[in-house]
Amino acid sequence: MAEINIKDMLASYDKKNLTIATVCSHSSLQIFNGARKERLKTLGIAVGEKKKFYDAFPLGKPDEFLIVDNYKDIAKHSEELREKNVIVIPHGSFVEYLGAENFLKLDIPTFGNRNVLMWESDRNKERKWLEGAGLTMPKEIKDPHNIDNPVIVKYHGAKGGKGFFIAKTYEEFSRRIETNKSFTIQEFVMGTRYYLHYFYSPIQDNAYKLSKGSLQLISMDRRDETTIDEVQRLGSIAELEELGIHPTFVVTGNIPIVMRESLLPRVFEMGEAVIEKSLKLFGGLIGSFCLETVVTEDLEFKVFEISARIVAGTNPYISGSPYSELIQPDMSTGRRIAQEIKYATKQNSLDKILT
Ligand code: AMP
Repeated sequence: MAEINIKDMLASYDKKNLTIATVCSHSSLQIFNGARKERLKTLGIAVGEKKKFYDAFPLGKPDEFLIVDNYKDIAKHSEELREKNVIVIPHGSFVEYLGAENFLKLDIPTFGNRNVLMWESDRNKERKWLEGAGLTMPKEIKDPHNIDNPVIVKYHGAKGGKGFFIAKTYEEFSRRIETNKSFTIQEFVMGTRYYLHYFYSPIQDNAYKLSKGSLQLISMDRRDETTIDEVQRLGSIAELEELGIHPTFVVTGNIPIVMRESLLPRVFEMGEAVIEKSLKLFGGLIGSFCLETVVTEDLEFKVFEISARIVAGTNPYISGSPYSELIQPDMSTGRRIAQEIKYATKQNSLDKILT
């Protein structure tokens, strides 16, 4: 990271002519649409051929495409992209396709603090961050012999919940575990899931005020995960497991949701604590982030994961959510990102939100 000097890169930029770019996947329709609403130019990076389905969504289609043979080749085009005054908006798939190392080395101005990556991708560091911020996480079970309640077993680096499984006893665990992969065992938290989409601006003081900048809640969703979310259509999980059919956690979509209003103060306290801790640990998370939570029957939040950039759960809200409507009509997370870039440009402080 140290070798990338954002001020040097921005020095040659024509700030009146910025282009918002991202990889054509995940939340790109929303990102392009949001930039378009803020009258910023857009560029979509796609592999192989132009993604035909964008023609069906003219308001979500980028102004131009960069076609690469392989996502890992994006860096080869960095000069060309910088000449177009490109600012990259990373989303979950962007980082996954590029690979963490290539992402950290990419010499194109990128929205957000890239240093966050090492804190969210290492489960021990993530726990240090979130528990250090005073959040409650599901208990970790270090020794599988101690499994005496339902647990969820997560393979490291598994994308979209792939391969995760539930076990209720050590025997069940040892029957299912693939020992060649590294994994974490967590208490399976009973409750209802809420995925909270925040936006933190280090440069604007017009929302929930923090020691530096301010915080917004833009929306929330619940992930739709197959087969766990619909498995009961076939019978109880216990019945199915007897037949060797095990529920899985592969994300297939996102469902809009709101929560009881009385829980919102806690939602902001948690967001605040996560940001304040991030400022101390690594100079602060910037922009969109998501806390993945379970609310228990005692109305307590347990946070099992953080995503430190725009999540696909914001996609139901291209034209605003029940929360963002209370900030500004017709504002998606994609649009909020574009607004932050425009605001920073006007304040001559782009280097405070890009790395
Ligand atoms: P993750 O990759 O950590 O986001 O987990 C994938 C999915 O597994 C989540 O979206 C939840 O549905 C479920 N999940 C993860 N951790 C827990 C937990 N500790 N208790 C209950 N469900 C969980």
